[in-house]
Amino acid sequence: MTTIDRQYCLTLDKTDALADLRSEFKLPAGMIYLDGNSLGAQPKVAFQRAQQVIEEEWGMDLIKSWNKAGWFDLPSRLGNLLAPLIGADQEEVVITDSTSINLFKAIAAALQIQSQKADASTRKVIITERSNFPTDIYMAEGLTKWLDRGYRLHLVDSPEELSSAINQDTALVMLTHVNYRSGYLHDMTKVTAIAHAQGALCLWDLAHSAGAVEVNLHQANADFAVGCCYKYLNGGPGAPAFIWVPKRHQADFHHPLTGWWGHAAPFAMQASFNVTPDIRRALCGTQPIVSLAMIESGLQIFAQTSMSAVRQKSLGLTDLFIQLVETRCAQHQLALVTPRGHAQRGSHVSFTHAHAYAVIQALIERGVVGDYREPGIMRFGFTPLYTSYTEVWDAVEILRDTLDTQSYDANIQRNAVT
Ligand SMILES: *Cc1c(COP(=O)(O)O)cnc(C)c1O
Repeated sequence: MTTIDRQYCLTLDKTDALADLRSEFKLPAGMIYLDGNSLGAQPKVAFQRAQQVIEEEWGMDLIKSWNKAGWFDLPSRLGNLLAPLIGADQEEVVITDSTSINLFKAIAAALQIQSQKADASTRKVIITERSNFPTDIYMAEGLTKWLDRGYRLHLVDSPEELSSAINQDTALVMLTHVNYRSGYLHDMTKVTAIAHAQGALCLWDLAHSAGAVEVNLHQANADFAVGCCYKYLNGGPGAPAFIWVPKRHQADFHHPLTGWWGHAAPFAMQASFNVTPDIRRALCGTQPIVSLAMIESGLQIFAQTSMSAVRQKSLGLTDLFIQLVETRCAQHQLALVTPRGHAQRGSHVSFTHAHAYAVIQALIERGVVGDYREPGIMRFGFTPLYTSYTEVWDAVEILRDTLDTQSYDANIQRNAVT
């Protein structure tokens, strides 16, 4: 059996097909960044792109840039660049607004489609997971309360409960493909089929999937999807999110945020809303162009590889991390939360520890940046475009030393953002 040591990890890096892409990113010296699942690193070309947008497009060309620099088409043009990463077709994705707002639009549209059906009066349940990212639950809560049409949320406590929970009363199954906390990866094809067999629609949140795991929305026959651009896609802090509506649902896709960017003729300035037939109906109003423009820099890097290569390395990194933590930190009370099976694992790994928050803060002090999530979870994200196997080794050694020497402050105060 091969001994796994630092030398072995250096060898893995030498044969890593994605190793060259690391140089495309600005990575601070002395930092092992394991939080690209929360905020992706900066593509180096983003700086030039920002300069171009600020100095030329805004600074020199001003209003002309809506046409000349293609600002007006940016949501669809970037959506088309993103599409291949998630198994979407061209003209099915726009990059716009936040994930929360896109969830609102997609939930509203799904409920509207269901309300046209003969059994609408009894099909009133939205199913999701209690462990879903809170904003997904909150947006569904907010919309259904506000609609006041008898819709209710059913929160399941484990993925195994889904198949028995989904029934003829289910209007919508709304799931996050990779759980933000545990890293659990749902079988999108299987769950979507279960939902469809009961007449329900299926909305997938790809916040922790896009750019991290292989996704094929068409193959899975999914109905709608949304996701973040500032995580694995490296679009920059607060970058606008994406929304996918397949061609087959576009004509029926109606949401209440009927701003002028979703109008068939925005510059006709008509006194009444007339929805555009295409994917731009998912838009609402003027986009944050400076932030939106940064997203292309991240997508260009993905264009140099394939999601299967990204996925293969992601599994290599997470396998290595799990194995090293479990062997080298074996005497410490760390419990793996993330599934071991490749088919059920996203691209981050979570462990519980009694002093999880304090340990994460100590690691950050020592240059290993992961994050903390309630309850008691240390979360480490692995981003195949710029994380090396040697960094995994070094991160685990720093974790081991921190635990061995108990060099963390168990009474540390929490920051506002954990
Ligand atoms: C990160 C994340 C979000 C973030 O939503 P914002 O509107 O961008 O704040 C939403 N849902 C999931 C599942 C996430 O992981």
